[in-house]
Amino acid sequence: MSKGMWDDIPVDVGLVYEGERIRKKQMQVELGGPKITEKFELVQAREMDEIEDGKVIVVGPDISDMKVGESYPLGIIVEVAGGMVEKDLEAVLERRIHEFMNYIEGFMHLNQRYDIWCRLSQGSFKKGLNSLKIIGTVLTRLYKSEFTNVIEKIQVTFYTDAEKIKPLYEKAREIYNARDARARGLTDEEVPEFYGCTLCQSFAPSHVCTVTPQRISLCGAINWFDARAAAKVDPKGPNFKIEKGELLDPVKGEYSGINEITKKKSLGEVERVHLYTILSPYNHTSCGCFEAIAFYIPEVEGIGIVDRNFKGNTVNGLPFSTMANSTGGGRQTVGFVGMAIEYMRSPKFFSADGGWKRVVWLPANVKENVKDAIPTELYDKIATEQEAPDLASLKEFLKEADHPVKEYWTEEEEEEEEEEEAEAAAQMMQIPTQMPQMQMGAPQMVGGMIQLPMFGAVQFPAGAIGGLGGGQWKIILKNAKIYAEEMIIKRVEKPKKKQKKK
Ligand code: SF4
Repeated sequence: MSKGMWDDIPVDVGLVYEGERIRKKQMQVELGGPKITEKFELVQAREMDEIEDGKVIVVGPDISDMKVGESYPLGIIVEVAGGMVEKDLEAVLERRIHEFMNYIEGFMHLNQRYDIWCRLSQGSFKKGLNSLKIIGTVLTRLYKSEFTNVIEKIQVTFYTDAEKIKPLYEKAREIYNARDARARGLTDEEVPEFYGCTLCQSFAPSHVCTVTPQRISLCGAINWFDARAAAKVDPKGPNFKIEKGELLDPVKGEYSGINEITKKKSLGEVERVHLYTILSPYNHTSCGCFEAIAFYIPEVEGIGIVDRNFKGNTVNGLPFSTMANSTGGGRQTVGFVGMAIEYMRSPKFFSADGGWKRVVWLPANVKENVKDAIPTELYDKIATEQEAPDLASLKEFLKEADHPVKEYWTEEEEEEEEEEEAEAAAQMMQIPTQMPQMQMGAPQMVGGMIQLPMFGAVQFPAGAIGGLGGGQWKIILKNAKIYAEEMIIKRVEKPKKKQKKK
């Protein structure tokens, strides 16, 4: 970016501002976001004579007309034309709106597609960033400098008038659905290669998305066709080809080619990736742009899914935001993974863990949205926040519905539940700082994993527990599960007795 390029822009523009967060107290206005139902961003390929290069249009009130601290609707349409511009590029160009808008000092853009959330800071407003036309100008210049050989003409329109946005929002959702549907039917086995994306590394440095026909990107905005088109026209950009290499594990979805490129692109942070599971230490990494989070519920051996629009606590007592904090940032977390809603339509949807047979909880609106993807016989067996607001009601619901997840339940779990109720009456105890000795029972296979039984006990030395007198006490570790990548069982030789000297 040349220095003079931004001389007429009242604030700085550059990579350094990516990741800048604007808190409510600091904001001049909010555009889109959780308070606004209908919002969107869309890139459309046009013919050369259909658009005017560099033109920025604002339909509805501009920033200077908006009240401080208020939220307003927002629709963004970026139209592009050029010899190399093709339909397949639309989704990838659209995803760059997020990156480019975040280059603007004091401007924050989160999420994608129908879920955008922008904020302008009071500081940048005071510096003169008081019109969407300025933001549109920055966008047009960044697009043209980044896609020099692709985009010849670009026109940007911002809609802030709710009435005008409504029909455009409906149209945009149809376009997103049509894009997603394109990759359905194509399998991971039949394509010669996969594609990757590192666009989110500015927020999550070790995150590398692997995009396959049957595992769309976490943000849901880039499918296999989109990533392929982007890698072709912009080989130095964030999208790249992934040679599959050897298929190391067809069930979990591990390929040597994915492992190699992920290790390279994550600078050694991530060495292995399992595509189709939530229960592996090598789960796909999660950035922060995921549309939803899949979370394991050990109490019922099932999988819950929550989308970012869900308000309040999920069935495990945690809201989306808390789980997002411990899932995102480029991490691989056993039992938590970021995902796109579209992934739920894939035959490879957590197929290593049992797929839909393992899903026990969904927000009601997500359940309705993906109704077509849920096997008919399972639809009524999956709980939502209405039937199961907490774990106790979930377990009851699953029992009554005879959910297939019960196959994963062991008798010990049932027994322990009763035991737990009895234990709840126990007195408060002071746990000694002295390291206790832990005794575990024999490991068993549960849900394809080695699981140590939940009745492992910790024994404390006599008199160590204050208030309960002497003798030995046992503490039951309820639902404590330990997963190991490998288990080595070794015979412990008894120490040889020293021979008495004659
Ligand atoms: S979530 Fe993945 S595919 Fe989507 S922009 Fe981020 S890195 Fe790219």
